[in-house]
Amino acid sequence: MGKVFNVTLDGPGGSGKTSIAKAVAERLNIAYLDTGAMYRGVAYYMLTHGIDVADEKAVLEVLDKVDLKVTKTESGEQKILLGKKDITSYIRTPEMSMGASTVSKIPAVRLKLVDIQRRIARDTSCVIDGRDIGSYVLPDAEFKFYLTADVGVRAKRRYLELKDKENVTLEKVKEDLIARDEQDSKRDFAPLVVPKGAFVIDTTNLGFDEVLDLVLSKISI
Ligand code: C5P
Repeated sequence: MGKVFNVTLDGPGGSGKTSIAKAVAERLNIAYLDTGAMYRGVAYYMLTHGIDVADEKAVLEVLDKVDLKVTKTESGEQKILLGKKDITSYIRTPEMSMGASTVSKIPAVRLKLVDIQRRIARDTSCVIDGRDIGSYVLPDAEFKFYLTADVGVRAKRRYLELKDKENVTLEKVKEDLIARDEQDSKRDFAPLVVPKGAFVIDTTNLGFDEVLDLVLSKISI
């Protein structure tokens, strides 16, 4: 087995980082970790237990009970378990997106998840996507990327993903993305920033394959 190395991909919602991260992991034959799904898992716990994600005291009272596990399906897709329940298919709604953004402002929530993320990355070569991976979770990662795109383009991509499953409009998706961008970049602890040393890619006018080739061209192992 070769030396463990990590590829970090940060950026705002709809920048393409999750689909690119998955493809990069597949091409390099290493693991993939979607950290946004972990924050969504915490939001799911709070929202299904009637806890206001903005109420720090209430969240902290139950945080120890949040038994979150990241595993894989047989076909290699990431699966999020809460206790024994597979919640993967429930966490991609607009409500969970906003809930995750709000609950992720709480430092204790972040520290709990960062600890799991660092343990996974220490033992396994992986591509990790999120908001603070190259800046806070793994600042010494071997390969760091920051993906961004015009907000209108990001909203359209997210809308196309959601429209057949959720009752959404393009305007509302855009509004939510702007609110999340604002909340994620302005929080005090580990905000969304361009990590030091990250290669920045504006995906506004790039196709999936162009972004993938660009990322892969910067990774030498
Ligand atoms: O990437 P995704 O849209 O699934 O992330 C959901 C939310 O989780 C983000 O808006 C952000 O607030 C939070 N998040 C975070 N740090 C990460 C990953 C996600 O704060 N590393």
